[in-house]
Amino acid sequence: MKAEIIIIGDEILNGTTLDTNSQFIARELEALNIEVIRRSTVKDRREEISQALYEAEQRADLIVTTGGLGPTKDDITKKTIAEYLDEELVMNEAVLQHVTDFFARRGRPMLDVNRLQALVPKSAVVLHNAMGTAPGTFTEKSGKAFVSMPGVPFEMRYIVENGLVPLLKERLDNQHIIHRYLHTVGVGESSIAAQIAEVEDALPAHIRLAYLPSPGIVKLRLTGTGDDEATLLNEMLVFEQGIKDILGPVIFGYGNETLSSCIGKLLTESGKTVGTAESCTSGYISQLLTQTPGSSTYFEGALVTYSYGLKEKLLQVNHEVLNNFGAVSEETILEMTRGGLQQLGVDYIMATSGIAGPGGGMPNKPVGTVWIAVGDKNKIISRKYQFGGDRTRNIELTSIMALDMLRRFILGIGEGA
Ligand code: AMP
Ligand code: MG
Repeated sequence: MKAEIIIIGDEILNGTTLDTNSQFIARELEALNIEVIRRSTVKDRREEISQALYEAEQRADLIVTTGGLGPTKDDITKKTIAEYLDEELVMNEAVLQHVTDFFARRGRPMLDVNRLQALVPKSAVVLHNAMGTAPGTFTEKSGKAFVSMPGVPFEMRYIVENGLVPLLKERLDNQHIIHRYLHTVGVGESSIAAQIAEVEDALPAHIRLAYLPSPGIVKLRLTGTGDDEATLLNEMLVFEQGIKDILGPVIFGYGNETLSSCIGKLLTESGKTVGTAESCTSGYISQLLTQTPGSSTYFEGALVTYSYGLKEKLLQVNHEVLNNFGAVSEETILEMTRGGLQQLGVDYIMATSGIAGPGGGMPNKPVGTVWIAVGDKNKIISRKYQFGGDRTRNIELTSIMALDMLRRFILGIGEGA
């Protein structure tokens, strides 16, 4: 099945509001193995909406729209779609009741324009909107399905999760869908793709591979569909093993694991503790660590030391070292690591110091120069990274790489790429 997403709204088109709806919808559809072939954005104008519906219908089986379902005059999606599908708009009693209750619960008067929200195309399946008043609708015409949902992100998400996805699953002939996730760290998407090209090329049509990148991490998702669940799973596990054999320790976890939860597992198993001495990441590593429930059993705390003064006071970094080599140097990161181990009394420590940018770069230490160290009382490993010019990305990348260095340190599997 092929799908297109049409986002309707002047505010999206002119850049006032960032379109997050189509990303969410695309992910949900892809997870059902429905291929999204195009996304477009149009104005709240009758001709534009009709034209977009017409074009989408030429290519796709499923056309999903969001936006323009509000009670105000500029929201014309519902009328336009009904007109396009040659459908009468009829009052849906269940929706009307929901809208009436919605206003009653909030003690707000219900206006005539609110009543109109209960109008839906005559042959539509209503997709209940528990979060708001405008319902979603699913209307079929000549073998094509048209879905309309409100633009408000949390309303749209509710409708997709509780109405659209279950309905689509039902229509997909009770086919089993299996997702398998492999999480990689420290290697770029294109490099991973090149390494596992052989496995990817061998995938049959009913098993697909998606790359889902975020700073430092690439999630690989295998999606398979088939009539028999056990057969499908066995078939998918062969490809998964193929990827594992090639990527090895670049893969840190599976399923819904995160780098933080994987480290948590290692530390819980060994009964060891960890802390951080953070300069350029200013607590972000500890924030990631504590996103894992139960982290209090192994995470002792963080020393965020931005200034020279606090590096000396809290981490016992030598004054001369700071003055001679600067904060972003191997000499300082080693001092921070030793000091952090001692001051926090932890088994393992991660330390960071770098130039996050956009200012503060120097010819020999440009923006994005970062030193990271991990260690325990017997051994310290430090490493210099050269990231880019974006501050947020540098902080995220530094934190992810620090966590990966710790993972490798604990597992004793070498430094990686
Ligand atoms: P509408 O259903 O068109 O009245 O949209 C209601 C509100 O939802 C808008 O004012 C936006 O703030 C938000 N919104 C609409 N479409 C999107 C979208 N594609 N992504 C994120 N937010 C949106
Ligand atoms: Mg709008």
